Amino acid sequence: MIRINENYRKLKASYLFSEISKRVDEFQAGNPDKQIIRLGIGDVTLPLPEVCLKAFHEAVDEMADEKTFKGYGPNQGYAFLREKIAEWDFRKRGADINADEIFVSDGAKCDSANLQEIFATKKLRIAVPDPVYPVYVDTNVMAGRTGPNVDGRYEGLIYLECTGDNKFIPSTPRKRADLIYLCFPNNPTGATITKRQLKKWVDYAIRHKSLIIFDAAYEAFIRNPKLPHSIYEIPGAREVAIEVRSFSKTAGFTGTRCAYTVVPTTCRAYDSEKNEVNLHSLWGRRQNTKFNGVSYPVQKAASAIYSELGQKQVKTMNDYYLRNATLILKEMTGLGFQCTGGTNAPYIWVNGNTDSWEFFNLLLKKAGVVVTPGAGFGKCGEGYIRISAFNNYESVQLAMKKIVDALRMD
Ligand SMILES: *Cc1c(COP(=O)(O)O)cnc(C)c1O
Repeated sequence: MIRINENYRKLKASYLFSEISKRVDEFQAGNPDKQIIRLGIGDVTLPLPEVCLKAFHEAVDEMADEKTFKGYGPNQGYAFLREKIAEWDFRKRGADINADEIFVSDGAKCDSANLQEIFATKKLRIAVPDPVYPVYVDTNVMAGRTGPNVDGRYEGLIYLECTGDNKFIPSTPRKRADLIYLCFPNNPTGATITKRQLKKWVDYAIRHKSLIIFDAAYEAFIRNPKLPHSIYEIPGAREVAIEVRSFSKTAGFTGTRCAYTVVPTTCRAYDSEKNEVNLHSLWGRRQNTKFNGVSYPVQKAASAIYSELGQKQVKTMNDYYLRNATLILKEMTGLGFQCTGGTNAPYIWVNGNTDSWEFFNLLLKKAGVVVTPGAGFGKCGEGYIRISAFNNYESVQLAMKKIVDALRMD
């Protein structure tokens, strides 16, 4: 008899985005003339940078000619891309990372989901932020590393509470955590971490022989020169941290698909006899078995951002979203709401001082603006909403005007 992986039954159905569209559709059906502005989803809206498009087109033409045609590429990604990543994203920032430590992939979602496979399935103590990008949690549930979900939390996980009290930066847990997921700039809160705060986590991981998976998908939105772009700017991180990055938010690649994961050759974990094991070769083995690389034109398009012109175009693109974020932050703060994010991040996390879904309904019905209820990201998200800056400026202006008008009338 073919049996299922029972762990999938523990998963709490993710009602979040289906519930949002259900409520939006219902509202639109009842109010066909009302304009609805979506500031809910975390997807980019601007077209690819010109440098990427040019490289993309040229690479497609290479595929049309037998002399330049490419079949399977190097599994870890083409050297032309990995060398540029190492130089521009790390060495230029004083982080000691080499091209052979980079694994190019088709997404930070799959990488952050798959990394757990190289760790023990039993007795691993896992710490996840709350609120959280659900991928880190659900993939560990699927792998059987948790108990059932009770009252919105899985038994066996260590939840790192991110609240107004700690300014949404979790402190290291008193209990030992073996595998720790961190994401900065954060989705959904937009919070950023300082070098000093991040150093505490690196020191913790060294002390407890733990490993940190650092998701830096929103690195490109950092403007404050003091904030770390990479965990490898922190001494000792090469031994205790894996970093996940993506071109999705950096360069508008959500539909094009390119990302990468850094596993330094010095990064270690331990076997059942407490011997050190090299994680770089373990992850390489995993990728070689289960992944055949990212398409050549896509890697060419991604590598085009690593030039003076490419960096300028990427910055212009992300500055556009940051201008939206600044406007949202200003208007929501002006209405008297406590907010985080919105600077160095494309999300604004708003304390509505009310039930998340009630606040969602209010903004939908009174202003026609769709946001994301914070409760969908975890227990600590209750009371909050996430507003996304990924949209065009005119729509954001209109959305904010509608929110201000609606809430002022209250
Ligand atoms: C958008 C996002 C990613 C990027 O995922 P891709 O699969 O590369 O598109 C990764 N982590 C977080 C937290 C995100 O919000």
